[in-house]
Amino acid sequence: MLKKIKALEEKSRKLEVAKELRDHWNYQTQQYANHFLDVRNKGKTYVGDDQPKQLLEFQDNPRPIEELIDYINTKVDDTGLNPASAKHFGYIPGGGLFTTALADYIAATSNRYAGISYASPGGVRMENQLIKWMCKLMGYPESALGNLTSGGSIANLIAVVTARDYAGLKAIDYPKACIYLTEHVHHCVQKALRIAGLGEVQIRYVPVNEEMKMDTSSLDEQIRKDIQNGFKPFLIVASAGTTNTGVIDPLDDIAEISEKHNIWYHIDAAYGGFFILMEELKDKFKGIERSDSIAIDPHKGLFISYGLGAILVKNVKAVYDTHHYIANYMQDAINPDIDISPADMSPELTKHFRGMRMWLSMHLFGLDTLKAAIEEKIWLCRYFYKKIQEQGFKVGPYPELSVMIFRYIPEDEDADGFNQKLVQFIHDDGRVFLSSTTINGVFWIRMAIGSFRSHLEHVDLSLKIIEEGILSLNQKIQVES
Ligand SMILES: *Cc1c(COP(=O)(O)O)cnc(C)c1O
Repeated sequence: MLKKIKALEEKSRKLEVAKELRDHWNYQTQQYANHFLDVRNKGKTYVGDDQPKQLLEFQDNPRPIEELIDYINTKVDDTGLNPASAKHFGYIPGGGLFTTALADYIAATSNRYAGISYASPGGVRMENQLIKWMCKLMGYPESALGNLTSGGSIANLIAVVTARDYAGLKAIDYPKACIYLTEHVHHCVQKALRIAGLGEVQIRYVPVNEEMKMDTSSLDEQIRKDIQNGFKPFLIVASAGTTNTGVIDPLDDIAEISEKHNIWYHIDAAYGGFFILMEELKDKFKGIERSDSIAIDPHKGLFISYGLGAILVKNVKAVYDTHHYIANYMQDAINPDIDISPADMSPELTKHFRGMRMWLSMHLFGLDTLKAAIEEKIWLCRYFYKKIQEQGFKVGPYPELSVMIFRYIPEDEDADGFNQKLVQFIHDDGRVFLSSTTINGVFWIRMAIGSFRSHLEHVDLSLKIIEEGILSLNQKIQVES
């Protein structure tokens, strides 16, 4: 038996990587990261993937890191959308700060267990400090807390299940329970409702005004009507920066209504939340401090690499009651004197120590630089809004944040079809990436400026490519006719 154990030991010891090999792998990884940042990241932003790629089979023997990095370089990072590109203006960009990689390196190496306070008091303290910092930013009281999630979707899910339990809803109540939102709410909210077992609740789509913001008198009227008819309103979801057009719902007026009727008020600020750092925009967020919970995504607004969202909750007991659980094998972990554990505030137990990436980035750069980058995005969007109109485009609402919509109205051709072709032209070209949306059956092209890497030259390049697209499409039309 000892012989057997020793033989296995000899093999398994290879998992503890010796210094020399570590240095080699470190060096190769770093070389590739540098190649990516200095060369690849300057290339195309979007490349279509038209050929199936050969996968590397898993085998008993190890492969050299050079072969694996080559695979990543030529078969993963070569096609599709490059979200790290300065010229990525689709969906909601963020860029992905390099400091995220450094923090993940440390967190993955030490493998600290940041789910439970007693296992890593320092790690949990760090995460809770970040959450409290965001709570303060939103004007929440000292007592508020929340959780660092993998992204906005899970943050919104935590809010939905907390609101469900806070209202004391049981399965039998679901068909009469009402949630209020607009058609511009991010689809992860509807998804969260289904996952939360709330597929049968009544979703009331509140009409929007001409600015595409929630119409609050309709909201109030609908709630009154529902109460009169024996329904149970339990959740209002507002957006602080819609994905479609970046507009902020009238947060303060909605707060008034939610307080009057005692309904959980959740704000999805996954995209827009960090713009509150800009002095000039503080007014637009007025009322956010009156909400019960807020979803916010550092992997968008704070430029952290993918995998970091947050849910902020005023009533800590409510979110704790929904998420904590006591198991016999966890008995050592219960200590009321120490910080509230992330595991008690989310569906996760063992988790990525994801706070370190935000903490290290905020410290290494300092808030001043991050704020300047955020403000730059706003001004770039205002610039684009002006310039694109000069190029003859029709635009949607004035950008409150850094997202806006626009479309071209050709002389004698179907406008939707024309704009679809224009988006296709931009994608085929690939230097920049923009995405589109449909609002009330109308096709719009979206400009979303969110990466810390995006500057004036990149916005100008987009304008130039769009101009080229118009010329090319108009030429084609002339040839055809
Ligand atoms: C991106 C986004 C989400 C979803 O967040 P993920 O981090 O992608 O899970 C939710 N709401 C809004 C407004 C968003 O922009």
